[in-house]
Amino acid sequence: MPDECIFCKILQGEVPSSKVYENEKIFAFLDLNPVNPGHTLVIPKKHYQDIEKIPEDLLIEMVKAVKKIGLAIKEGLEAKGYNIGLNNGRVAGQLVPHVHFHVMPRKIGDGLKLWPQRKYQGQEMDKTAKLLSSHIES
Ligand code: 5GP
Ligand code: ZN
Repeated sequence: MPDECIFCKILQGEVPSSKVYENEKIFAFLDLNPVNPGHTLVIPKKHYQDIEKIPEDLLIEMVKAVKKIGLAIKEGLEAKGYNIGLNNGRVAGQLVPHVHFHVMPRKIGDGLKLWPQRKYQGQEMDKTAKLLSSHIES
């Protein structure tokens, strides 16, 4: 565990947190700065920096926990839905380098906006799809 990782400190009990769920491999707790109340972070108990480094079986465990949290958000907080997010890499807004899903409750009229989108120009869409698919192993 890197000394400076705040989420590892939470896991060690050195920093307090509001636990929502845990099992042998996963821990889930409330984000200190929620987009809406109930905004939950789901983390592996072992430190991995990002989604590419995490073993697939552990990633599956994370997603299973995300689903449990989502159901609880709808049933317990009467949210109509939720956004699931994972900021992968500093450029994508990842501030804490311990891989984590955000599960963010949504209510009608809560005022939150999704990211802005744009249109492709010319052949850009076709070229991008080919470039991507050529880098994906089957
Ligand atoms: P990121 O930007 O890395 O995707 O998200 C990190 C999240 O961790 C942020 O939403 C931030 O509010 C939350 N966070 C940072 N430090 C703490 C902390 O000490 N306790 C809790 N509960 N959340 C934290
Ligand atoms: Zn960590």
